[in-house]
Amino acid sequence: MSTQAAGVVVPGQEKRKKKLVRRAAPDGSQRIRRVVQWVFVALNVWIGAQFYLWVRWFERGGQGWAVNRPAGVDGWLPIAGLMNLKYLLTTGRVPAMHPAAMFLLIAFLAMSVVLKKSFCGWLCPVGTASETLWKMGRRVFGRNFRVPRWLDRELRGLKYLLLGFFVFVIAWMPAAALKDFMAGPYGTIADVKMLNLFRTMGVVGIAVMTGLVVLSVLIQNFWCRYLCPYGALMGLASLLSPVKIRRDTQACIDCGKCSKACPSSLKVDELVQIRSVECTACMACVASCPVENALQLALPAAKAPDAAARWRGRAVNPRAVAAVLAVIFLGVVLLARMSGHWQTAVPRAVYMQLVPHANEVSHPM
Ligand code: SF4
Ligand code: SF4
Repeated sequence: MSTQAAGVVVPGQEKRKKKLVRRAAPDGSQRIRRVVQWVFVALNVWIGAQFYLWVRWFERGGQGWAVNRPAGVDGWLPIAGLMNLKYLLTTGRVPAMHPAAMFLLIAFLAMSVVLKKSFCGWLCPVGTASETLWKMGRRVFGRNFRVPRWLDRELRGLKYLLLGFFVFVIAWMPAAALKDFMAGPYGTIADVKMLNLFRTMGVVGIAVMTGLVVLSVLIQNFWCRYLCPYGALMGLASLLSPVKIRRDTQACIDCGKCSKACPSSLKVDELVQIRSVECTACMACVASCPVENALQLALPAAKAPDAAARWRGRAVNPRAVAAVLAVIFLGVVLLARMSGHWQTAVPRAVYMQLVPHANEVSHPM
């Protein structure tokens, strides 16, 4: 007679049966996140197209249809954002050149403090491109490739080295030097230089870009994981976030699906909460979990006898994540616009002198 038929409880068996409360419905987090990601990509494409037309107008000597410079392009100038933030913190004055770079940096840091590195997982167009590439690689090769653990640890340090370098240089520059740099020819058209970097890319540039694309197809989030200093900064800010991925060990059935789903290779099924700077709050782990209330993006759980009560009012659902990100983003942009600190105020005559000759303007240092 089997132990079950005899009604004998094998230690752990009853416990396991009690724990397996299947999730009633998918949480929809990945669908909502994808919508947010592609809306942000569309916004950046629109900004990029407008900026390109703006540059072309100056290159054509002011002929044809004139468009305004979209201030949002400053979001692609993270170093200018850091410089301006230091200028604001040391002088109390909002910088005149590329102020939007600073406001966007503040918005993205605020997102990280509230909702982990959600900027990377929900908004960043480079992150979205990276995710699209590794998913493509997974479809083609049936899997993504893993960097050996010892090498992965070393490589992850690279982005902090890059961030440390920029922070060191900017920290070393006095406020007056920052102002002079930003108001100089190079600082004024740093956005045009960035565009031209891609428009007039040489053999070396194309080889580097191709290498990054290939590595991004093969390895999950190659750029974000190893090389992005912006993501490194967001990760450090995310350490302050009270919201984390939290696993309820009483509800969890140890199936390991969350760890397999994590694009940051975090051991979700072995931890009670994810403190890691690599967590992007993407909620892929939550979406993959088959058990109701076993895994949540949440504030610390309450002490309660059942999983539902432990998470009540503490779990953050994907719609709330999207709403909070939208409120922070739109709130900061609106604040900058209403206070008159969103646009860079440079006369068209100055741009007319600089933009067509952007490739001749060299870095002052
Ligand atoms: S732990 Fe979850 S939320 Fe964090 S990166 Fe991994 S899958 Fe995304
Ligand atoms: S997916 Fe992770 S949290 Fe959910 S039951 Fe499986 S091991 Fe536990």
